[in-house]
Amino acid sequence: METKSHKQLHIFFFPYMVQGHFIPLINIARLFASRGVKSTLIATPLNAPLFSKAIQSSKKLGIDVDILVIKFPTEEVGLPQGCENANLVTTLEMNEKFIKATLLLQPQIEQILDKHRPHCLVADTFFPWATDVAAKFGIPRIIFHGMGFFALCASRSVALYEPHAKLSSDSEVFTIPNFPVEIKLTRSQMPNVPKQSAEITNLIKEARESGEKSYGSIVNSFYELEPAFADHYRTVFGRKAWHIGPVSSVNKAADDEASLDRHECLNWLSSKKPNSVVYICFGSMTNFIDSQLQEIAAGLEASGQEFIWVVKREKNDKEEWLPEGFEERMEGKGLIIRGWAPQVPILEHQAIGAFVTHCGWNSILEGASAGVPMITWPVSAEQFYNEKLVTVVLKTGVAVGAKQWGTFLDVMTEASVKREAIEKAVNQVMVSEEAEGMRGRARVLREMAKRAVEEGGSSFTDLTSLIQELGSLGA
Ligand code: UDP
Repeated sequence: METKSHKQLHIFFFPYMVQGHFIPLINIARLFASRGVKSTLIATPLNAPLFSKAIQSSKKLGIDVDILVIKFPTEEVGLPQGCENANLVTTLEMNEKFIKATLLLQPQIEQILDKHRPHCLVADTFFPWATDVAAKFGIPRIIFHGMGFFALCASRSVALYEPHAKLSSDSEVFTIPNFPVEIKLTRSQMPNVPKQSAEITNLIKEARESGEKSYGSIVNSFYELEPAFADHYRTVFGRKAWHIGPVSSVNKAADDEASLDRHECLNWLSSKKPNSVVYICFGSMTNFIDSQLQEIAAGLEASGQEFIWVVKREKNDKEEWLPEGFEERMEGKGLIIRGWAPQVPILEHQAIGAFVTHCGWNSILEGASAGVPMITWPVSAEQFYNEKLVTVVLKTGVAVGAKQWGTFLDVMTEASVKREAIEKAVNQVMVSEEAEGMRGRARVLREMAKRAVEEGGSSFTDLTSLIQELGSLGA
């Protein structure tokens, strides 16, 4: 067993195995390291290489983050070899096995904590057992939820009061009780228990309970983005929380320098006028059915706007998800990226005028920090709450009109948003009378986000308090 050094704080970071969770947690580890904290990320063999680029680029600035690799028990639960990332999960059955595999990680984490005795474990919300494991060694566990304060408060209120339980239909509107603003939702936009397996429902429940017992939460957000909800979470729900974001800007200069293979789309964007291009991306997991992609293509074409559209498909000969001759007609006007796009640099490019987003929290925060107005198209998880933050509270975007919550697997069954709705929403944000107002408010958010992470800014200061507090616990 290593003895605790009180000179240098040592924190372990344990992200869930999917991009939307590990990208921000890698940045959080780098952020702590940049403030003199010894930071160690826990990764599984096939995810570790995905961490390396960011870690290497920080190293050039003298910021060191260690990676500790643990085994992911795919075989033990009957998952295909290599299935270590939740975005490789394609069926409910696989999802259940994936969750079982994450439960089996417990002994390895216990050994690591016993051996290294860090001052703190920052673990993803999807490892509810981590609080008790850390407690065995007297180590405080901090939760990383991967959500903002608005959604944290909304989901907590809904879990407590169940306002949607007694409605007569899925389309009946209800409001969130005991909430700082009036938010209208329908039951169809709520996580639907029969659709998700018992394992997932259980996991979410256990995550909530372990939240109660944990030391507090790290939130990738900045106070000025959602002040009423940051206050509500702390005072009404009595939760300890530190806002330290947006963390996508951590070590940005080093990352830019490190990416020698600048993506061609950034050069393409540089040939475009400011605010003239729509960026469409649905995160790392949402992979729509062909007919929905057809609707998107037709809606974009009809809008007449230039675009970059990220589609999670491989290039192959039969592209049935594209209307006949689409790419030829769109030559010079629209770019399709198949696979992974450099989202943050794209959003920060001055040519981007709007972001069609599935409302994953990272995407919302990255869009807001880049000052880009949004067209919101929530699909799953807490995304319907995030939509309301953008459209009702911040007023920096419009809703495309998604009505049905689904699991990531459901999006392969129905084209629920039609081309006319897509065309209308895109033009509303790009060229309507309201567009300038949305753009102006989005620009204000960008400035606030920048200031929040600068020395003396709200996120910078909250991180300082957290580091000091953890330091004093070990004293
Ligand atoms: N992302 C990216 N390129 C892509 C798709 C996603 O860089 O082609 C990044 C995006 O910038 C964000 C994360 O992946 O940091 C996705 O997280 P989010 O919470 O938005 O959605 P999720 O993938 O969890 O549904």
